[in-house]
Amino acid sequence: MSTIAFIGLGIMGSPMAVHLQRAGHQVQGFNRTPAKADRLREAGGTACQSIADAVRGAQVIALMLPDSPDVEEVLLGADGVLANAEPDSLIIDFSTIRPDVSRNLAQLAVARGLRMIDAPVSGGQAGAENATLSIMVGGATDDVASAADILSVVGKTVVHVGGPGAGQTVKAANQLIVAGNIQVLAEAIALLKAHDVPLEQALDALAGGLAGSTVLTQKRENMIRGTFEPGFRIALHHKDLGIVTDTARAMGVVTPVGSLLASLMASAVANGDGGCDHSALLRGVERLNGRIPDPC
Ligand code: NAP
Repeated sequence: MSTIAFIGLGIMGSPMAVHLQRAGHQVQGFNRTPAKADRLREAGGTACQSIADAVRGAQVIALMLPDSPDVEEVLLGADGVLANAEPDSLIIDFSTIRPDVSRNLAQLAVARGLRMIDAPVSGGQAGAENATLSIMVGGATDDVASAADILSVVGKTVVHVGGPGAGQTVKAANQLIVAGNIQVLAEAIALLKAHDVPLEQALDALAGGLAGSTVLTQKRENMIRGTFEPGFRIALHHKDLGIVTDTARAMGVVTPVGSLLASLMASAVANGDGGCDHSALLRGVERLNGRIPDPC
C-alpha cells in the first residue's frame, strides 16, 4: 500500500481519491477550495493545506485538474510538485491535457529525478463514482507497471497505449467520438419530439439496436428532463475539442466533423452553457430550431 498525494478533488478527483483511500492506501488530498476535501476526510484520508504538505512522504502523486495550464502550474510552480516531491516518486496525471504538454512535463519530471505517466480517463462522473473508468495510459513500461495496482482501483479498463503523451492522444480521440455521439443523439431527440413520439419508448428501442451507446444510456435522462447539472462541463469538452483540433492539425489530419463539433461546442459556450453538462448540446440543437431553451 502506498502513500498517495491527490491534487484536484473536483467532480472526478474526489470519488477517485475516496476509492484509493478505501482500498487501503493513505491518501493525502489537496484542493484549492478546501471544502471539496471533506468527502476524502470523511473516508479516512487527510486534507492538506498545501501541495508541499500533500506530497510529503508520498510515493505516488495523482493529479485530476481541468486543463494544461493548471497541470503546469501545479507541477512547476514555486510551491508545486516538482519542487517538493520525494525522490523517485511517480506522478500519475489523470487530467485531460494536450499531449505535447504532457510529454514536456514528463521530461521535466524525469530531469528532476521523478517519474510521470499520463492516465486520462473516460466514463464520466458515473465511472469515477463506481470505479469503472476506462484509463488510457502513456509512459515508460516500468512506470506504467508500477502504477497498475493504483489504476485498477479506479478503473475497470486499463490499457497502456504507448509512451509519454500517448494516453492524451487516445483521450483526444475519445472526446471526438463522445461529442459526435451526443450531438447526433440530441438531433435525434429533436426529431422525435417534433413528431410527438414518446421519448422513453423511442430511446428504449434505439438503445437495443445498433444506435445504442454508453452516451445514450448515460445521457438520455438529462435530455428527456432538460436538466443539465454536470457531470462533464461543456467548458471542459470545449477545451478537449481544441486539443483534438490542434492534435489533428499537428499531423495534417483532416477531421471535418470534428471541426463542426468544435464549432457547435464553442457556440454552446458563447450562449452561456459552459457550466452545463455536455448533454446540453441539446440546447444548441433547440436554438438552431428556433426555440429559446430555459437557462440550465
Ligand atoms: P472539476 O470538477 O472542475 O475539478 C477540477 C479540480 O481542479 C477542482 O477541484 C479545482 O479546484 C482544481 N483546480 C482547478 N484549477 C486549479 C489550479 N490551477 N490549481 C490547483 N487546483 C486547481 O473538473 P472535473 O470534472 O473533475 O475534471 C477534471 C479533469 O478530468 C479534466 O481534465 C476533465 O477534462 C477530465 N474528465 C472529466 C470527466 C467528467 O465527467 N467530469 C470525465 C473524464 C475526464 P477548485 O475546487 O478550487 O476549483
